[in-house]
Formats: sequence, C-alpha cells, structure tokens
Amino acid sequence: FTTEAGLYTASDQVVVLTPDNVDSVLVNSTAALVVEFYASWCGHCIAFSPVWKSLASDIKEWKPAVDLAAIDCANQDNGPVCSRFGVRGYPTLKVLQLLYPTRFPRNVRGLRRKIIDKMETHAEPWPPACPPLETTSRAELDNFIETNSVGHLALLFETPNSYVGRELTLDLLQYENIAVRRVLSTEDGLVAELNVTHFPSCYLYYPSGIFTRLHVQLEVRTFYTYALQRLPGVVRAGKPLPVTSDLTKNTTEDQLRPFNRSRVYMSDLESTLHYSLRVELAAHPVIKGEALSTLQRYISVLAKYFPGRPVVNNLLKSVDMWLKGEKDTELSYSSLRDALDNTAEVPNASLPEGVRWVGCQGSKPHFRRYPCGMWTLFHVLTVQAEEAADPQEVLQAMRSYIHSFFGCRACATHFENMAQESMSHVGTLSSAVLWLWSHHNHVNNRLAGALSEDPHFPKIQWPSPELCPSCHGVKNGEHTWNQAELLTFLRSHFSSEHLLSDYLE
Ligand code: FAD
Repeated sequence: FTTEAGLYTASDQVVVLTPDNVDSVLVNSTAALVVEFYASWCGHCIAFSPVWKSLASDIKEWKPAVDLAAIDCANQDNGPVCSRFGVRGYPTLKVLQLLYPTRFPRNVRGLRRKIIDKMETHAEPWPPACPPLETTSRAELDNFIETNSVGHLALLFETPNSYVGRELTLDLLQYENIAVRRVLSTEDGLVAELNVTHFPSCYLYYPSGIFTRLHVQLEVRTFYTYALQRLPGVVRAGKPLPVTSDLTKNTTEDQLRPFNRSRVYMSDLESTLHYSLRVELAAHPVIKGEALSTLQRYISVLAKYFPGRPVVNNLLKSVDMWLKGEKDTELSYSSLRDALDNTAEVPNASLPEGVRWVGCQGSKPHFRRYPCGMWTLFHVLTVQAEEAADPQEVLQAMRSYIHSFFGCRACATHFENMAQESMSHVGTLSSAVLWLWSHHNHVNNRLAGALSEDPHFPKIQWPSPELCPSCHGVKNGEHTWNQAELLTFLRSHFSSEHLLSDYLE
C-alpha cells in the first residue's frame, strides 16, 4: 500500500495523518482534532469520504478550533497509529480522545452538530482557540461591552434547540472586529428590548443600546455568514484592513481602472490570451508529445468558442488551421509565435499585445490578474460551447492546458486532483458549466484567507446573495444552491452579449 491509495489528498482540506506527522499534529494543534480512521478498501468509507470532504469545506472557518483529519488504516505503515488509538472498525471518528465507533451521522449537518455537542460536553480542556459557545444573558452582554471594543457585536436570537448561533460563532472565528453571541428566545429582557419576534434572527448591537436587525435574504447560517463577514471593518485575522487608497492608486505605473465588479470584461479575456500564448507558452521552447496535443486542443477550443472581436477570432482560427496542418511531431515555440504575430498573409487578424486587466485588476500588482483571467476565460468558454457535440470538450481542454502549461504548478496539481475525481462524470453541456463553477468554488474555499487573497476581493462562495439572490435557497434549514437558477445566471453572466468592451484598444 502507498499513501496515494488513500481517499484524501492535499486538496481536500483534511489533514492526512501518517506515522511521521501524527505526534507533531496532535501536539501542535490548538484545535480539537476530529480524526476519521478509515480503510481505503471499505465501501462505507468510500461512500463516506465525499461527506467528510464536504464537511471540511463547510467548517473550514472553524479550523483554529476544530480541524478534520483522516488516516488510512489499510496502509500497513499506518497500522501502529490506528491500533494506538484502539481503532478496530471503519470508519471510526475520534474527537480528541473520545471514541465514536462507527455510529455517527453520515451527513454534513449532523456531523457539524455532533462536533459542537462533543466540544461542549467533553472532559478535556476546551480547545484554546475556541470561542465561548454558551448563551448570553443581559448581564454578560453589559460586561462584554464594557470590557471589549469590537466594532460589531452580532446577537443571534434563537430557540434552545437551534445550532445556528454556535455555528455562526465558529464561522466568524477567524474574523476580527466582530463578536457573535447567541441569545435564547427565553431571554425575555433582551427579546423585549430589541422587540425580537423571529427566531432565528440576527441583530447588530452597539454600546449605548443602539441596535439594528441584520438584513438577510433568508434567516439561515450561510446568509448571516455572508453578511457579517462583509460588515465595514470586519477583516480576517492577520489580513490588513482594505485601504481605499489601494484601490484608487495601486503601485503599478497605471491607476486602477474604474470597473463594475459584477460584470465580465473582454479586455481581461484578451489579456489572458496574450499572457497565455505569448508569455506562458514561451517558457516551452519545444512543444511535443502530450503537450503538443494539449496546445492543439486548447487553440481549437479557442477558435471555436472564444466570443472575441472579429480580428481576434480571425487570428485564433488562422492559428488553429496552421496547427491542424502541421505534420511535425514537435513544434518550436518560435514558430507558434510567428503564427501569432506574422499575420500579414491573413487579413484583418491580430491579437493585441500586452495586458490591460479590468475586472481582474488587483489592489496590488501581485494580486489577481492572470489566474483570474484564466478562470474567467474558461467559464466563458463552457458557456459559449452551447452547441458543442462533446460536453467534455472545453473542460478537458482546460484540464490539459493547466496540467501541461499553467505556471503555478501547485495549482495544476490541485486542479488535476479535482479533475481526476469527477470531471469524467460530466455528461451534459449544462453540467460542464456547473462543474467548473462548483470546482472554482472549491478552490475559493481552500484559498479563503490565504496570502494570495486580495483583501479587496475576498474569496467567497460565488455568486453572493447580492449578485444572484435566486441562486441561493434553503432546504431543511440548510443553505442550498438552486442549480436551475444558477445555470441561468451563469449563462447570462458569462454570455457574449453581456461582455463589456471598455478599455479595448
Ligand atoms: P478568482 O478565483 O481568480 O476568480 C475570478 C473571478 O471569477 C472572480 O472575481 C469572480 O467574479 C468569478 N468567480 C469566482 N468564483 C467563481 C465561481 N465559482 N464560478 C464562476 N465564477 C467565479 N491559487 C492558489 O494559491 N492555489 C491553488 O491551488 C490555485 N489553483 C488554481 C487553479 C486554477 C485552475 C486556476 C485558474 C487558478 C488557481 N489559483 C490557485 C489562483 C486562484 O484560484 C485565483 O485565481 C487567484 O488567487 C486570483 O483570485 P481572484 O480574487 O482574482 O478570483
């Protein structure tokens, strides 16, 4: 057995335990570590692994207090660790030293609640990074306001059996300038003072008794989280507060171009093509074998579906025809460059030189830009390929381009992991659009709070409720995406008619 045979990879936000790291993980963790002991051959474990991965995404913000881990007990090397924790059957979950042999909920919501229950009742010391989860009284509130100076205090009013307040407290755990407290519907004084009639509901409470109700589309955890994380002054711990001057003047030669955040710009797409074809590919002086077929597939998809200006489309079509006519088994980058630039023989065909980022501008030169353009390009292409005969065509072109050429190699590995897992299941053009949307969100979830995140453009589960209210829904009290509405939204957002042509040369 090798560790690769396990059910989790580095892309899953689950700590993969091994005999080499287990002690340091346990000793260094400030969080309650919830470990899934599994055997990679066990059908129940295979069936459970998507739930464990979804839970890891769902409670990603709880990481300082609760972290998820997994260990493959079928890997012989891991055997001593599994027996040290007394594990006999699979899957087994352990929170700290508490054992839950095989009987635990098999869905994200149930697991989330179970973890909260165990955190509240276990006898071990409280994980140091975990905020208080108990309910608040009037007296505690006064004391809190006197002794703390957070910008916002969110009071979540709820019934005694509700988990929303505790979940929200943990969701905001990594954010500064905000605190969340839960108040029970039985706390008559506060309920009367704020005239609360709906449970759950959330109020922002300020010193001297000023309060406002938090307006959300639906009274559920995800909507509260979206809204609270974006209150003025609320910022992820360790991240600088977004400064407006970063947006009005970035440190590059040019001023930041005014743009509409909820639209897609052709200038970003052309800049992406320029960077990909003239800069990224130039790092490969000779292109052959798999890389050559990847290039052909990429250019072919661009020639068919790029919704560009006629000059750009003519250029892409001429390069595509030239590549299809090439009989050599290898290609020098310089000949590709010639095909891109020596367009004298092809009338009215060219790709503008240089980049002009608009919707993909960042507040600092190292933020956003090309990778933002790459995502946008492929979202546009999946939407444009409406009449394609093969629903996999655009996704596979993206997959192989990222695999062979994308300069961020760690990104390429993560993307390939996701593609291997599920891209082949895509059987319709609609599911291709949705696959890319959901896996982009998976990446957003993993990167939220990372150093590469532009503080002015936090990584969120996109689109936000403001951008597409009807994309969001609730089922059994849990946030859900309305796939039909999402598809309509994505098809419009990334459609050729909706592209803005500002700043084009
Ligand atoms: P981006 O994530 O680049 O998104 C661009 C725009 O697309 C957003 O502004 C928004 O308007 C829209 N959008 C956002 N989410 C969605 C969605 N779910 N569906 C449709 N549209 C959406 N960086 C790393 O540090 N580690 C990685 O492993 C990594 N992997 C990557 C893999 C690929 C294939 C690509 C193309 C990029 C990867 N990156 C990775 C870069 C990272 O994902 C971002 O592109 C980069 O940090 C810039 O972020 P951004 O704020 O511009 O938003």
